Amino acid sequence: MAGKTFFVDTTKCTACRGCQVACKQWNQLPATKTFNWGSFQNPADLSFSTFKLVRFREVVSGGKLHWYFFPDQCRHCLEPPCKDTAEGYVQGAIIIAEPSGAVIYTAKTRELDFAAFEEVRQSCPYNIPRRDPATGLISKCTMCIDRVQNGLLPACVKVCPTGAMNFGDRDMMLDMANTRAEELKKKGYEKAQLLDADSIRTIFLVVDDPMIYYKFAVAQNDVGISRKLALRKLFRPATGLITGMAKE
Ligand code: SF4
Ligand code: SF4
Repeated sequence: MAGKTFFVDTTKCTACRGCQVACKQWNQLPATKTFNWGSFQNPADLSFSTFKLVRFREVVSGGKLHWYFFPDQCRHCLEPPCKDTAEGYVQGAIIIAEPSGAVIYTAKTRELDFAAFEEVRQSCPYNIPRRDPATGLISKCTMCIDRVQNGLLPACVKVCPTGAMNFGDRDMMLDMANTRAEELKKKGYEKAQLLDADSIRTIFLVVDDPMIYYKFAVAQNDVGISRKLALRKLFRPATGLITGMAKE
């Protein structure tokens, strides 16, 4: 499978939120009014004008406080269920831009009525699409397709100072991700794993129970049980990739 892919190494994320700001700046998205809702994570959730969000979580285990940072965004699924759903209503509302494989929401998303939008939203296993109530447009991360088509890195990757955000040809990113996961396992991070690497183009590396990261994706939203089950399935670790490397 060719095309482009992100590799997000959460172990290198310091939650500086440079990616979040760069996304707003490049895409000329308005600032979101924030408030103290009891978390350093701000704004509280993704929105039609916030395509990238560093999610924060504090967990106490073994008498120690652990921080989890998760720079959330669209996964650019290889076979995007949001696109399949939208096609049942409006052709061309959601397209795949080749050769990158970016999943792009077009101006035709305006033509999806409320029920259709709800179905698109519910079909996304990662709770990503959001609608602008003023314009009716549905939006999310674009993979910075205007930059990528001109040989530039996505804005969020360009600014990341730690190496948490990476982007490039899919094979190269998979190699990088597998190598890093293996390295972390050798250092004692037994739970190091890639999330859904075989089905998406935004591959996250985590070092703890994926269910902790699963909570990031659904915490702010009312999620039905069928989607929760789908999420559990889709957040399964890419065991084949990692264990395959471990045997080599
Ligand atoms: S993560 Fe959600 S919004 Fe993004 S391509 Fe996949 S189904 Fe669509
Ligand atoms: S790829 Fe571009 S649009 Fe997507 S999260 Fe990064 S900066 Fe935002």
